[in-house]
Order: sequence, then C-alpha cells, then structure tokens
Amino acid sequence: MTAPGMIQEQLPVAMAPWSPGAGPAGLVIIDAVHGFCTAGAGPLAPAAPSPQVSRMIREIDDLARRFTAAGRPLLAFLDTHEPGRPEPPYPPHCERGSGHEELVDELAWLEGEPLATLIRKDCINGFVGAIEPAHPGHGVTHNRVVDWIALNRLRSIVVTGICTDICVLDFVVTMLSARNHGLLSTLRDIVVLEPACATYDLPLETARHLDLPDGAAHPQALTHHLGLYLMASRGAVLASEIQD
Ligand SMILES: [Zn+2]
Repeated sequence: MTAPGMIQEQLPVAMAPWSPGAGPAGLVIIDAVHGFCTAGAGPLAPAAPSPQVSRMIREIDDLARRFTAAGRPLLAFLDTHEPGRPEPPYPPHCERGSGHEELVDELAWLEGEPLATLIRKDCINGFVGAIEPAHPGHGVTHNRVVDWIALNRLRSIVVTGICTDICVLDFVVTMLSARNHGLLSTLRDIVVLEPACATYDLPLETARHLDLPDGAAHPQALTHHLGLYLMASRGAVLASEIQD
C-alpha cells in the first residue's frame, strides 16, 4: 500500500457535498497570491505548475463567482511582507511591491468586487493577521474577521486556499476556538472545501538533493491529507463540493 493509501486507512477523512441552505454564508480565500501559486514567483512558489494548485484556483474562482452572484460576502487574505522584515522560519516571500503579494490572475477581479474584503497579513494565521489598532496610538485593537462575521451575520463560512496544512489549518482551528469561545455569535459551521485547497510539494529526496534538512520534507499528498484530518478532528466540516 502506498503511504497516502496507508494514511487514508489509518487516519481517514470523510467529506460530502455541503449546502449553506438559507442562512448567510461567506467565502474565505487564503493566500491565492502569485508568491504561493504561480510557478517561479519567489522561493515559496511552486517550482513547476502544480495540478493541485491549478485545481484549487479553478474551484475558488467558480465558487467566488457563484457567491458574488448570490450576493454573498467574500474575504480574501493576501500574504504581504514589508521588504527586509523576515517571517521566520521562511525565506523572504510575498514582499510588498514584488508583485508576488498580489492575487493570481484568475482572481484579480476580486480587487474591484464590492462584496470582497481584502486583508493583507504578515503571519501564517489570518485570524491573528486581521488584528489591527481600533484607535491608532491607544493600544486598543479589533479583529477584522470577527467584525466581518458579525456585520454580515454569517451562519457559515467556506474556507479555501493554500496551504491546507499551514495557513488554512491555523485559520480554521483558530476560528473553531473563537466560535466556541463565543466571539462569533452568529457562526455555526466552519466548512473546508477540499478541492479548493492545496499545499506545496517537497518530497524527502528533493529536500536532500537541495541540501535541506530532512525535516524540510513536505510531500504534497500526505501533508494535504494531514491538514484535512487535523481540521476535521477539531470540528471543521469537510466538503467535497458546495451545492447551492
Ligand atoms: Zn508570509
């Protein structure tokens, strides 16, 4: 049995079509920017076009168009860093002004979409990256995700993007805690649309070939699965498709 087959058998994830029904639903898109999705766009971009990433972008574009047609709100995170300010343990990426911090071409239309809220973030966890001063200079903060959920009275969110086991995972598990803590009083379902998520591929042999430590290994199929497993185990709903 292959390793992905074995992990699916030992750590199974179940997913099914999901429908938001009549309740207000929002779409969250995480880091669909060149620096993570477009081959050659910096050190954290795929070395070559990735079928999993291409599928993700098609699925996000399709769902984003359906949500906007239905008048539903969207929130897109864009990983963006000030040049010279590192984000350890990662090499410099998505630096402001490089173009790598911009939405992929297929989703660039979101910038002019009134239903879309764009949030630039400089850390893995979008929930943390959405914290900003409420009154500059006074130390009081607010959270733009919490505000977005409350203002739109969202009953459910569908989360998509990259990487399944990094930025998507951290955001989703944090939202589950925030919901259970009562910060998101209208929110019930936190849904992850599997085909609209992706992660990067760095097999162990490639890591060794690049003189990276073995711990840098990150095989795409396994880590994508692991991310899904961890989110589901914390209470996220895994969806194979979104039905209207
Ligand atoms: Zn970053």
